[in-house]
Amino acid sequence: MRATTLDRKSAGPQRAKRQIFNPATGKPITEIPDWTAGEVEKTIQKARRAFEDKCWSGKNPAERSAILFKLANLMEQNQEKLISLEVQNTGKPRKLVQEGDIPFAIDNLRFFAGALRVLEGAAGQEYVSGTVSFLRREPIGVVGSVAPWNYPILMAVWKMAPALAAGNCVVLKPAEWTPLTALELERLAREAGIPEGVFQVVTGAEATGAVLTSHPQVDMVSFTGDTETGKKIMLQAAPTLKKCHLELGGKAPFLVFEDADLEAAARGAAVASTLNAGQDCTAATRLYVAQPIFKKFLDRLTQLLESVRVGLPTDPQTNMGPLISSEQRARVERFVERALKQGAKALCGAKRPKNGALQNGFFYLPTLLTGATQKSEIVQNEVFGPVACVLSFQKEEEAVSLGNDVRYGLAASVWTQNVPRALRVSSALRFGTVWINDHLPLASEMPHGGFKQSGFGKDLSKHALEEYTQIKHVMADTTGQARKPWHTLALSR
Ligand code: NAD
Repeated sequence: MRATTLDRKSAGPQRAKRQIFNPATGKPITEIPDWTAGEVEKTIQKARRAFEDKCWSGKNPAERSAILFKLANLMEQNQEKLISLEVQNTGKPRKLVQEGDIPFAIDNLRFFAGALRVLEGAAGQEYVSGTVSFLRREPIGVVGSVAPWNYPILMAVWKMAPALAAGNCVVLKPAEWTPLTALELERLAREAGIPEGVFQVVTGAEATGAVLTSHPQVDMVSFTGDTETGKKIMLQAAPTLKKCHLELGGKAPFLVFEDADLEAAARGAAVASTLNAGQDCTAATRLYVAQPIFKKFLDRLTQLLESVRVGLPTDPQTNMGPLISSEQRARVERFVERALKQGAKALCGAKRPKNGALQNGFFYLPTLLTGATQKSEIVQNEVFGPVACVLSFQKEEEAVSLGNDVRYGLAASVWTQNVPRALRVSSALRFGTVWINDHLPLASEMPHGGFKQSGFGKDLSKHALEEYTQIKHVMADTTGQARKPWHTLALSR
């Protein structure tokens, strides 16, 4: 079990230390303090002062942009350190961090550094005679950001980059299990010239996050994590009516039609259900396959999943690493055990690997289940591990209805070579992202965010930047007259 030297009381007056583990070896790497409530409060006050001073929002767009570009360059120059910290702290295969997470995080930051110079709004016009109206797009203030453990550096950048680009001050709490790259990002931000108090990282668990998301001097809460935590955070933010930006859980459907390229779909499903050990909110977890190709698809997918090399992150042959913690693996195991008891059948996996070198890490094999019913827990709830369920369908309408039949609405995919069908189905699926003949890729320029109980607000793209601004209508009299025609509504002539 993951040992901690503290529990939820940790935001008390004494700073407690939390052990940070390498999930691939189960060994502790370092200790990080849980900030006390008082310390979090002081951090928020420092952010507030920085915001009121306008030391950041008062810089012109070109100046802010240059500093954020400098931070992106520093991330690039320090990427070896960032990769090493992320690999140790998450157990991810090095190739995923080196070729995926870090370059994408740097690209996201560069996107926002550029986008902040081209904020959009309605044209200034004389909408009412005798006046001119224009929009100002202004920062919201102090943003309290709370991140999950599955993509620590990416989530830190998704939170801080658009918020800082828009001129806000940010206090970020990374997940208690994975704080290392966020702390390094804070150091690099200082080196890049981001002023004191503008971007600060606090560490700790729920108690620390609760201070941040309820504090009256925090204007906006930006959270990525579990749907149930999102509901709690909305309640914490409600008394002071903070703007909430919530990126929550997912349970993505993956619809494979009879006319799909079967090899492409099987490969797509193998990658999209095992990348990052399935700890991905957009992971393909519900595979609905047209009845005529069901058996053929299952055989090929099982073969591919059995070829996924589960191993140590530093081994270049490794495709999939461990889960983040022994608790998370136990949670995944319990989900699978319950599904098997209820009549599902495992076509592969459903157990830990036998390899002796992996015994102390939190590994679990890619798992494919068939025979689970649509209403069962394993089909309806987010497992957050390398576990996919396959079900069959007869007709297009049935596929769409099964795909939509969950409380989540983050991402989905449709696999077909029939263009009208692809367009029809992508329109009928109620998810924030729908891929056609692909599953997982994201782009800095395009929004990512949920429908339904996957939350609201968008990460990535100009839409994320807009999320961290508020628009102000400025209306000015152009007549210079004391008597205006409309005054007769309230005054005599
Ligand atoms: P989690 O909800 O358990 O924790 C997320 C963060 O919230 C952590 O930093 C935690 O310390 C903090 N926290 C917990 N309770 C809190 C409270 N009451 N107040 C303030 N902070 C609190 O999620 P997790 O297990 O770290 O991450 C996995 C979840 O994240 C999955 O559900 C996954 O789908 C979701 N996720 C969503 C997206 C997306 O873009 N929609 C992206 C990545 C992960």
